[in-house]
Amino acid sequence: MDIPFWSKEIETLDRASLQAIQLERLRDMVSWALKTPFYSKKLSYVGIRSPEDIRDLRDLERIPFTTKDDLRRSFPKGLLAVEMTEVVRIHSSSGTTGIPTVIYYTRDDVDRWTDLLARSIVATGASAQDIFQNMMSYGLFTGGLGLHYGAERVGMAVIPIGGGNTKRQIQTMKDFETTVLHVTPSYLLHIHSQFEAEGVKAGDLALRRAFIGAEPHSENTRRKIDDLLHIQAFNSYGLSELNGPGVAFECVCRKDMHLWEDAYVVEIIDPATGRSVEDGQEGEVVLTNLIRRAMPILRYRTRDLAFLHPEPCECGRTHRRLSRILGRTDDMLIINGVNVFPSQIEEKIMKVPEVATNYQIHVDKKGALDRLTVKVEIYPKLFLGDVAKLEALRARIREELRSSIVISPNVELHEPGSLPVSEGKAKRVVDERPKD
Ligand code: ADP
Ligand code: ZN
Repeated sequence: MDIPFWSKEIETLDRASLQAIQLERLRDMVSWALKTPFYSKKLSYVGIRSPEDIRDLRDLERIPFTTKDDLRRSFPKGLLAVEMTEVVRIHSSSGTTGIPTVIYYTRDDVDRWTDLLARSIVATGASAQDIFQNMMSYGLFTGGLGLHYGAERVGMAVIPIGGGNTKRQIQTMKDFETTVLHVTPSYLLHIHSQFEAEGVKAGDLALRRAFIGAEPHSENTRRKIDDLLHIQAFNSYGLSELNGPGVAFECVCRKDMHLWEDAYVVEIIDPATGRSVEDGQEGEVVLTNLIRRAMPILRYRTRDLAFLHPEPCECGRTHRRLSRILGRTDDMLIINGVNVFPSQIEEKIMKVPEVATNYQIHVDKKGALDRLTVKVEIYPKLFLGDVAKLEALRARIREELRSSIVISPNVELHEPGSLPVSEGKAKRVVDERPKD
C-alpha cells in the first residue's frame, strides 16, 4: 500500500526520540503554565515551581488533573499565559454538558494546530487534488475553522459551506464535484436520507472520503456510511480544550486513530482511582498539551472513554492509536440500577439492516420505575408489509438490545424523517426523569 505522509520524519520517529521530544516540550509547557494564576497555584501545591522539577516523563503524574469545572471556574482569563495582544483567535466549546469554556490561541498556536490537521488529512490519503466541502459549523465551534485551515494548507479546494441547509449541501456536492466531506456522522446519514428526494444516487457523486467526528459513533455506523455513500469514512477526534479537531485521526489503514504524540501526551486512567491503566485497557482519556502558548493545559480529564492499541500500525507511524470513543463518563445512563451507555445501543441498532439512519433514546419514569424507550427510524417500504412482520422486527431489535444492555427496552418503529435531526452534534438521549 502506498502510505502518504505530511511530515514523515516526525510521524515515524522511533519511540525513544519521540519521548525525548515529549519531555523537552513538557518542561516548556510547565514553564508557560506557571505564568497562569491557575497553574502556578496548582503546581506549587505539589512542589513544582520550575521546569527543572520535571526530571522525566513519569513526573507528569505528580501534576494534578485539570477538569472542565477548573476551566469554567477560571473563566475568563485564569488560564491565559500570554498578553491579550498576542492572542489572534478565541474559540469556545459547544457546551454539550453545561456552560461553555473559552480557548485562546496565539498565531503560533493556530499555525501548529493547522499543521496537525494537514498531517491528519494527508494520512487519510486526501490531497491537494481534492474538493473539500466543510459541513461542520464555523464560528465558536472549533470543528469548522480547524479543518478549514488544515485543508487549505494541504492545498485542497475548500468550500466553507458550514452546517445545515441539506438541499444546498447536496446541490453543492453536485455542482463542485466534491470529493471529501467533513461532517458529523449523524448529519451525514441524514443527508443521505434526502438523496432520493433530491434525485441523486450516491454512486453518481464524486465523493470519495468523509472525515467524521465530533460525536460518538460505532464501527457499525461507519460501515453504514461507507456502504450507503460509496465512500471511506475516517474517524476524527478532538476537543476544543486541546485545540479542537486534529488530536487523533485515522490513517489509510482505518484501524483507529493515531494520536499525535509530539503534540499531546496521552494517558488512559481508571476514572475511579485516577491511576494509569495498561495499553489495551479501557479508561478515561487524559491529555496534556505539548505545544501551546496562549493556554497551556496539563492532564485534562476529557471524560471520554477509550483505549490505546499496544501494537503498531501497518502504516509505519509510531504514534499510538486511540480506539474509537466508547462513551463518556458523564453520558452513562442508570436505568433501574443498571448502567447503560448510549454507544452500546447505537452499536446494536446500526447492525439491523432494516434500520434507516436515525434513532433516539428516551428515558422517563413510570411510577417508581425507570422506563427506557429506543425509537428507531426504519425504511418506509417496511410499513407496507403486514403488522406481524413489523412486530417481529420490533421484537428482534429489542432482543438485540437486551443481549448487550441486559435490560429489555421498549422499541418504537418510526418512519424516516419523523425523529428530530441535528445539523451538528446529534442529541441522542432525552432523559425526562425528574432530577432530584
Ligand atoms: P463539548 O464538550 O462542549 O461537546 P467540543 O465541541 O470540544 O466540546 O467537543 C469535544 C467532545 O466531542 C469530545 O470530548 C468527545 O466527547 C466528542 N468527540 C469529538 N470527536 C469525537 C469522535 N471522533 N468520536 C466520539 N466523540 C467525539
Ligand atoms: Zn496508521
